[in-house]
Amino acid sequence: MIVQDSALFRQQCFVAGRWISSDGRVDVIDPSTQQPFGSVPILSDEAVQSAIQAADAAFPSWKGLTAKERAFLLKRWHDLILDHRRELAGIMSREQGKPIAEAEREVLSCASYVEWYAEEAKRVYGDTIPMGQRGKRIIVLKEPVGVCAAITPWNFPLSTITRKAAPALAAGCTVIIKPSSYTPFSALALAVLAEKAGFPAGVINVVTGEGDRIGHILAKSKRVRKISFTGSTEVGRKLMRDCGESLTKLSLELGGHAPFIVFADADLDLAVTEAMTSKFRNSGQTCVCANRFLIQDTIYDEFASRFIKEVKNTLVVGPGNCTGCNQGPLIDEKAVVKIESQIEDALKKGAKLAIGGKRVPGRGFFFEPTVLLEVTCGMRIAREETFGPVAPLFRFSNEDEALKIANDSDYGLAAYFFTRDLRRTWKIAENLECGMIGVNTGVLSSEAAPFGGKKDSGMGREGSKYGMDEFLEIKYMCLGDLD
Ligand code: NAP
Repeated sequence: MIVQDSALFRQQCFVAGRWISSDGRVDVIDPSTQQPFGSVPILSDEAVQSAIQAADAAFPSWKGLTAKERAFLLKRWHDLILDHRRELAGIMSREQGKPIAEAEREVLSCASYVEWYAEEAKRVYGDTIPMGQRGKRIIVLKEPVGVCAAITPWNFPLSTITRKAAPALAAGCTVIIKPSSYTPFSALALAVLAEKAGFPAGVINVVTGEGDRIGHILAKSKRVRKISFTGSTEVGRKLMRDCGESLTKLSLELGGHAPFIVFADADLDLAVTEAMTSKFRNSGQTCVCANRFLIQDTIYDEFASRFIKEVKNTLVVGPGNCTGCNQGPLIDEKAVVKIESQIEDALKKGAKLAIGGKRVPGRGFFFEPTVLLEVTCGMRIAREETFGPVAPLFRFSNEDEALKIANDSDYGLAAYFFTRDLRRTWKIAENLECGMIGVNTGVLSSEAAPFGGKKDSGMGREGSKYGMDEFLEIKYMCLGDLD
């Protein structure tokens, strides 16, 4: 498919039900070729304000629809996303670099959030609470918070959007989506389908341009009542400072540095298979990626040799549209330089390179899948989020040491461990400092599960019934004179 020929490929923003442009534009680069293949508007401050105004104007009538009416439109959007699965995957793969098969799986995941919240829209229940005084009753109502902004990253250009927009819309909020400047076309394609689904003008808006400036405008606005952000911890902090002044509600899905612990009693075949998926999905560019492999001493060599063999035999680096390739490029030159310097630092401090370790020569931001052995806590890779196809293997001797290393991180998003011992399962799960745990699995994202972290990995949850709460206010009503 030629991406530019797709009716879903739009190089304009979607504001107040209209497709708008601007004089300033920014190129979007294909990370496999380092060549631009399209551009999007750098919206002016006034245009961003007009998106806020449109969302604000559309809010009362959108909120006024019945949950069933909102669910009906969400369901139509869901069906259209699935109908256009291949086109969406093609656009995403071109701008982000991931293999087409992975991009198609992300389209399914993106659609699953829309379907889930179309269903949840009808289950926003309130409460009645027994009152301690005679003649009075307590009733708890749930209401949409108002205009919401969804600021999203490049690594999952579609699913990070619907994880926010679908619950917001289901709750009765209107949304302004600000996608990453690396991957705006996926977001704009979703807007084409939302328009086709029949959402009223202003209910869904997509704005593009510099994140810093637009983020600031959204955070300062009195009309935007909630910002849901997914991205780096550094930008999350900035946004929180901005929202601190305006007292805008904020949820933050930030970086991660997941430990992947393999105990000696684990099923090693399973641990190796799951390690491969957890580490190398999206070429290691996921927030829940296994970033620190903690392997018990007695099985360290066996695990390492099986894992290295899998890396060697199964990973093929190449562009997203190359048949048989399963490792796409990194997003940009900065990402390549970051992992080069982490590897250099680790080798200087005593780590051993088992496989990979270098960028792939030629065009594109490709990097060899890499395994480092004998990694220790004093190395930079033990502290910094990697965001690339590098697997560092640490050693530990017992449960307490594994926990100590695993928790020795500012991040607290996901963690994984492998064991067949029930007592150990509870001990480790209860003592890991993170928001999500995979036990004997390396994949844990699902629309039905609460996704999110603690510590520097953020606050709030996405997906599941909990994800809806982020877009709802509680209003309590006290009825008196009932004697
Ligand atoms: P990023 O640089 O923080 O950017 C994320 C978004 O924020 C982009 O849309 C960006 O726009 C915008 N932005 C930039 N400066 C801003 C500001 N001052 N105020 C408001 N918004 C601003 O992150 P990224 O490089 O795209 O994504 C990778 C990071 O996301 C990793 O750390 C990863 O772990 C994290 N992540 C977390 C989760 C999770 O669920 N916890 C999921 C996926 C990714 P521009 O592109 O225009 O600058």
